Amino acid sequence: MKVVMIGTGYVGLVSGTCFSDSGNHVTCVDIDEQKIQRLREGEIPIYEPGLSEMVVRNVQSGRLQFTTDYAEAVPGADLVFIAVGTPQSDSGAANLNGLWAVVDTLAQHLTPGTIVVTKSTVPVGTNRKVYERLSEQCDFEIEVASNPEFLKEGAAIDDFTKPDRVVVGVTSQRASEILEELHRPFLRTERPFLSMNLESAEMTKYVSNCVLATKISFINEMANLCEAVGADINQVRRGIGHDQRIGFSFLFPGVGYGGSCFPKDVNALMHVASENGIEPEMLTAVDQVNQRQKSVLFHKLHRHFGGDLTGRIVAVWGLAFKPRTDDIREAPALVLIDQLLEAGAIVKTHDPVAMDNVRAIYGDRIAFCDDQYEAVDGADALAIVTEWSDFRNPDFDTIKSRLTSPVIFDGRNLYSPEQMSDAGFEYDGIGLLTGKRREQNQPTKSVEINVDEIVAATVGN
Ligand code: NAD
Repeated sequence: MKVVMIGTGYVGLVSGTCFSDSGNHVTCVDIDEQKIQRLREGEIPIYEPGLSEMVVRNVQSGRLQFTTDYAEAVPGADLVFIAVGTPQSDSGAANLNGLWAVVDTLAQHLTPGTIVVTKSTVPVGTNRKVYERLSEQCDFEIEVASNPEFLKEGAAIDDFTKPDRVVVGVTSQRASEILEELHRPFLRTERPFLSMNLESAEMTKYVSNCVLATKISFINEMANLCEAVGADINQVRRGIGHDQRIGFSFLFPGVGYGGSCFPKDVNALMHVASENGIEPEMLTAVDQVNQRQKSVLFHKLHRHFGGDLTGRIVAVWGLAFKPRTDDIREAPALVLIDQLLEAGAIVKTHDPVAMDNVRAIYGDRIAFCDDQYEAVDGADALAIVTEWSDFRNPDFDTIKSRLTSPVIFDGRNLYSPEQMSDAGFEYDGIGLLTGKRREQNQPTKSVEINVDEIVAATVGN
């Protein structure tokens, strides 16, 4: 099939490349001329494991090309996917300016028979509006479909080529069949192809991300509570996870979710709910808990240094919002860095791939270290924000010898408190029984529980 992907970012580049790898002729379009030029020269503008080789292979086979010119790409296409960003606007709603700009340009180049497929995450009702807007500008019948994307950065190729399911929203059997045909190579292992109406497909994407965000905020709140009452969230996770109705996935406490999807999608769904007269109480709580959780490491550090971080050197390991990506959108590390700088601390950072993106924001206000041990050199404490595998089994002797005192605040619970205590570290994680509380193995409080108070007691706000 002849496929066009408009928007060559994390989703568009991965999807376009995977579609070309399965035998289609794909043209990726972007307005960013520099990005397209780099791609033409074989340089991949994002970090995504395995993507570079796949792009090069498909460009060489002649099945994958890049352009800024709609006129060159769009006419005669079987499918045109829209994969531009839909960031959060000030009101919390999804900002669809990029999408409408694409739709208006597309209208000038579309030819009859092409199916326009929205892959960007868009609020319910958007695809109907895309149909109306294209129909107003084109004098032939328009076909619009929704195909929300569920890939995860860092595992994007695997997710795309071996999806748990493919969801499409359609208004005709023809669109459903063409999209199923396109996805068939990825559905060989009996993965379901779920065809539904446009609104259900649009909602599926938001509901999916909001369930996942809810799990994270829920376990984070429980971790804070565990910490305050002398329980250990890791033990509690085991205790609940074996219940098959609950399971273990996506129930890891940490420093809050970030990235380009969960924060904005939770807010966009809240906005849709409010517009439709439904008070989004659950989603509001999920968002608030998450924002508070992003401060958890700062409050621990602040408390540790007796409320004064002036001149303290803090090493921060991990800047990307999660491992295996260079994406720093809404990354918890940025919140921590801002708070540390505001409090007068000196920040030394290391991340395997995201340092250039962070350097573009902070310049020389923080130090960027090529090596994770260089970051702890002379630091008063180490804070771990992203669970890169490089941080899972570090040389603790080296860390200890380079820190001014052996203190680690671990926002991802990478190490066991026993191991850290034996290694001579003062170690604190999220919801873990550590330090004196672990030795005494008893609750720090035996008062009546008020969750707000407990969160305030553990995260300090
Ligand atoms: P991105 O910002 O990485 O990429 C968007 C691209 O669109 C950019 O390269 C930009 O230059 C280009 N663009 C903007 N306007 C354009 C125009 N008029 N014509 C052509 N190109 C244009 O965004 P992303 O992370 O790939 O996300 C895209 C969509 O997919 C969003 O709606 C997002 O919510 C959704 N999504 C993202 C992920 C993810 O992990 N990143 C996962 C699932 C769904």
